[in-house]
Amino acid sequence: FRHGEPSDVVVPTPNGPVVFGEHQPIVTIAGPCSVENEEMIVDTARRVRAAGAKFLRGGAYKPRTSPYSFQGHGESALELLAAAREASGLGIITEVMDTADVAKVAEVADILQVGARNMQNFALLKKVGAQGKPVFLKRGMSATIDEWLMAAEYVLAAGNANVILCERGIRTFDRRYARNTLDLSVLPVLRTLTHLPIAIDPSHGTGKAEYVPAMAMAAVAAGADALMIEVHPNPAKALSDGPQSLTPERFDRLMQELAVVGKAV
Ligand code: PEP
Ligand code: MN
Repeated sequence: FRHGEPSDVVVPTPNGPVVFGEHQPIVTIAGPCSVENEEMIVDTARRVRAAGAKFLRGGAYKPRTSPYSFQGHGESALELLAAAREASGLGIITEVMDTADVAKVAEVADILQVGARNMQNFALLKKVGAQGKPVFLKRGMSATIDEWLMAAEYVLAAGNANVILCERGIRTFDRRYARNTLDLSVLPVLRTLTHLPIAIDPSHGTGKAEYVPAMAMAAVAAGADALMIEVHPNPAKALSDGPQSLTPERFDRLMQELAVVGKAV
């Protein structure tokens, strides 16, 4: 692994450059699990921006457990993300699942997300490593820290130094009350192992909206560089991950609460 000084990841957005790093303000990424239609994505973008988010998230290509679940609107959703970027000035982060889609996704996205299920898709890691956009690498749900760092190393070795690590919860034995176990111990541990910025996703980490604020606060208190939070204008009607999505109002309140805990957001 590469040691040394923490390295900032600087991402240009229409609203100006946003810097991810240990000595930087916390960067918040917010938005729905999936891009559903133009109105909801543009509306969400405006509302999360007003609350202080710097990036809009939203899946065009969704890695669903069942092939019969909503798979994302694909290419047409990329166009809607471009419209939301234009309307809000927010940077865009969206998942790429297939090596064949990397160039297309990179045309719209300011950051490419590699999801938990693809953390060790080495062909995909090499491909995102060989293009110029920063990469947001989620921890696999059963990945050790060493496996996760080696996955990041694939991207770095391919020539892309701009990698952000994201803890999103791991599988443990009890899934009755929380979807995953959010491993916040990675924050101090990774500081000793890597210079890369570290994000925490309390939405996938808990699976339940009511648990998200507490874990977001804990992540900030423990030194997270960035947060990824699912926000949907009408969680009850969401096509994916509604139960863990905050309303824009609740997200706005959380952003105010977070400012009290840690570095200004
Ligand atoms: C997501 O961010 O919507 C997602 C699918 O995340 P993960 O890969 O962490 O499950
Ligand atoms: Mn999701």
